[in-house]
Amino acid sequence: MRIKAVIERTVKVDSNVRNARVDLSQMTVTVIAVITDQYVSGRPLAGFAFNSFGRYACGGPLRERFIPRLLAAEPKSLLDDSGDLDPPRILAALLAREKSGGHAERSMALGTLELALWDIVAKRAGRPLYELLAERDGVPLPGTGTIPTYAAGGFYGASDDVAPLQDEVARWRDAGFIDAKIKAGSADMTLDRRRIEAALRTLKSGARLAVDLSCAFDGVGAVRFAETFKPYGLWWLEEPCDPLDYEGFAMARAAGTPVAAGENLFAPREFDNFLRFARPGSDVVLQPDPPLAYGVSGLRDIVAIAGAHNLTPQSIFPHGGNMMSLHVAAGLGLAGVEAYPGQFGIFGGFSDEVEIGDGRASLPKAPGLGFEEQPALFRLFSELAVSG
Ligand code: MG
Repeated sequence: MRIKAVIERTVKVDSNVRNARVDLSQMTVTVIAVITDQYVSGRPLAGFAFNSFGRYACGGPLRERFIPRLLAAEPKSLLDDSGDLDPPRILAALLAREKSGGHAERSMALGTLELALWDIVAKRAGRPLYELLAERDGVPLPGTGTIPTYAAGGFYGASDDVAPLQDEVARWRDAGFIDAKIKAGSADMTLDRRRIEAALRTLKSGARLAVDLSCAFDGVGAVRFAETFKPYGLWWLEEPCDPLDYEGFAMARAAGTPVAAGENLFAPREFDNFLRFARPGSDVVLQPDPPLAYGVSGLRDIVAIAGAHNLTPQSIFPHGGNMMSLHVAAGLGLAGVEAYPGQFGIFGGFSDEVEIGDGRASLPKAPGLGFEEQPALFRLFSELAVSG
C-alpha cells in the first residue's frame, strides 16, 4: 500500500459571528485529501480531514515540510506489521526533523494529516473509526450506541437583542439537545446576564448551561465574572483567561465555578503544564481539539496526561463539533462531544447518520470518519481528491 498524493487547499468558512474577543468573518480552513494506490468497493481509497475552525488554515507547513516528507518516505516505513498505514508511526517520522516546543506552528498541520490517515485505516477495515480506536485501546463502547452531546453557539449578534439567542437555544432544545453553551464575557455584564437568563429560561428544566468566555479576562476580571454569575449555577466557565495565564485560571477557579480549557492548547505537554500550574481542580473540563493537537495520537497522550493528574477520560469533552471529534470522543471513551448546530457552513455539524435525542448523539456506521455521509462537505473533498 502506498500514498500516491496528498492534496491540500485553503477554503473560506461561511461564518459571520463573533465571540467576546474575535470575529470569525475572515475564517479559513485547510481541507486535505490523502490518496492511496488501493481501491475499496471499486473506488480509490482516500482519507479526508480538515483543521479545526476558530484558527485559520494551516497549509504552509503542510506544503513546505510535511507533505514532501511523507511522499519522500520509504513506503514500507509507513506501514504496521499487517501492511496498514500506521498513523502514530507516520507522525513520529514526520516529526523527525522538528525541534521541541513551538507546537502551535505545526501541531494543526500534522493533526489534520494524521486524522486523514486514520480515515484511510478505518475505511480499509470497513469500520467506523471509533470502533477501531476503542478496540485498540480496550475502551468499552456504550451499549446505547450513543454518546452525550451538548449544543454550543450563542454567538453575539449585531445588536443587544436577546430574542435571536433565545430562538437559537429553542431550536437546540427542539432538536433533542439538553445541555448547552453560549458565548459570554463581553464588556457588558448586563447584556451577559440577559443572555444567560434567556438561555436558562429556554432550556429544558434541569439542563446545564456553560458559558464560553473566549479568553476575555485577566484573573481579576475572571473572578468578577465568576462571582457575579455564581448564583446561576453555570456548568462551567470556559477559557475565562488566556490558556497560558495559569494564575488567572487559578483565581477564576477559586471563585467556585468549574473551569474548562484546552481548545487553544496544542500539545500534551501544554495540557500537563496547564493542569500542574493553573490548578483547575478535579471538576475541570478539558477540551482538546483533535486536528489542532496532533490528532488521535495527541489526544491519546492527553488522556494519559489527564490520568497522571488523577483525571479520568470523562473529564475530556473534545472541541470541534464535527465528525473527527465525535469519533475520537467515542473511541477514546471521553465524556462526550460538543456540537455546533447550524454554525460554520458545510464544516459544522455531524453527518446525516448521526441523530440527536435526549442530549445524546448516535454513533455512525459508515467506515472511517464518515464524511461521505455529509453531502456538501463530501462534494468538496471529492473535488479535492480528483484535482490532484
Ligand atoms: Mg470555546
